[in-house]
Amino acid sequence: MALVVHKYGGSSVADAERIRNVARRIVRVKDSGLDIVAVVSAMGDTTDDLIELAHTVSSDPDPREMDLLLSTGELVSCTLLTMALRSLGYPAISLSGPQAGIHTDTMYGRARIHSVDPDRIKSELQKGRVVVVAGFQGITEDLDITTLGRGGSDTTAVALAAALGAERCDIYTDVEGIYTADPRIVPNARKMSEVGYEEMLELASYGAKMHPRSIELGAVYQVPIYVASSFTDAPGTLIQQSADERKMENRIKVTGIATQANVAKITVRAVPDRPGIAAALFEPLAKGGISVDTIVQNTSEERTTDISFTVSRADLPHALREVESLKETLGAASVFSDPTLASVSVVGSGMQNTPGYASRMFRILADGNVNIDMITTSEIRISCIVREEQAAEAVRLLHRGFQLDMEGQ
Ligand code: ASP
Ligand code: MG
Repeated sequence: MALVVHKYGGSSVADAERIRNVARRIVRVKDSGLDIVAVVSAMGDTTDDLIELAHTVSSDPDPREMDLLLSTGELVSCTLLTMALRSLGYPAISLSGPQAGIHTDTMYGRARIHSVDPDRIKSELQKGRVVVVAGFQGITEDLDITTLGRGGSDTTAVALAAALGAERCDIYTDVEGIYTADPRIVPNARKMSEVGYEEMLELASYGAKMHPRSIELGAVYQVPIYVASSFTDAPGTLIQQSADERKMENRIKVTGIATQANVAKITVRAVPDRPGIAAALFEPLAKGGISVDTIVQNTSEERTTDISFTVSRADLPHALREVESLKETLGAASVFSDPTLASVSVVGSGMQNTPGYASRMFRILADGNVNIDMITTSEIRISCIVREEQAAEAVRLLHRGFQLDMEGQ
């Protein structure tokens, strides 16, 4: 029987009524003759509440204990949803991440899935049951519970869809799909009916809410991902290899404007310009689990150079501590940071090889008096780091400037 995987986010299962609503939606799919695996997030703000609770008993909670604690949020929602399904008269069973066969590495708080052993889920499906899986968690070789990072249930769902050969992975959330920009910033942003994985990856890591790793997985295993609201039946957005991506040479098209708040910049001043310096700086950061985004190194004057890079604001204290401790080894003159930045990106296919897109972006920002702090480009995006208080305005200007505004508005 054909199989679909559904994922319901925290707001979709925030209370008993919403859980019953999700159960009714699942039943409709089951009645249409499909097998279904449902992955759930923790109810509402449960994960935030558990983190807060941990900090009331310890200023620096142990990562292993933290993951075991956080995994309980998803256990609550998956068992309750299963009970709701059973009370509607449908056979259903809940499985924790480990029971569902999700094996991960040992990076607590941001574990990556090594493999999925789908046997248990398959045998439950064969018994005609709806399988409800606790998202966001897995188990290490040593049988310790891990979590996949905030928002990680999306990744659980796509990983299961890939491992089970599902037709599709539906992500149900509190928005109706993926928009050309954040609708809270740009009121006339358009909902897209379809978007390619690569573009979505940029949109996801630059603000549109979805765990970026889930999109990567979808792209690698070619799982179509459908993002829609669990509160309405409005059509959502299908993420799949787009018509443009399938073409040998992409048609150039701007898909959307992405933005990310809470960007912090660290600048290491006057380090010697010689081989090994960047490695000596970024290796320890990588080991510390800090992901670095934009990196800019200036041309050297008098054999020293400045290196600036961005991290998320949450990682700033940790990153600064690392960099300060490296200052002497690196021979750097000073280290300073700026926590009040944001990034705005123009996302689309085939932009890097097309002259004119970057300059158009810079012109739009210049005319709006938005100062650009750093610039990076990739195959499918051009990103500028700007002051946080100007980010929303920058997004609106770019959305209009690249003619993404909804027609007739
Ligand atoms: N409950 C976890 C979080 O809030 C995972 C998820 O929602 O996907 O981050
Ligand atoms: Mg959540």
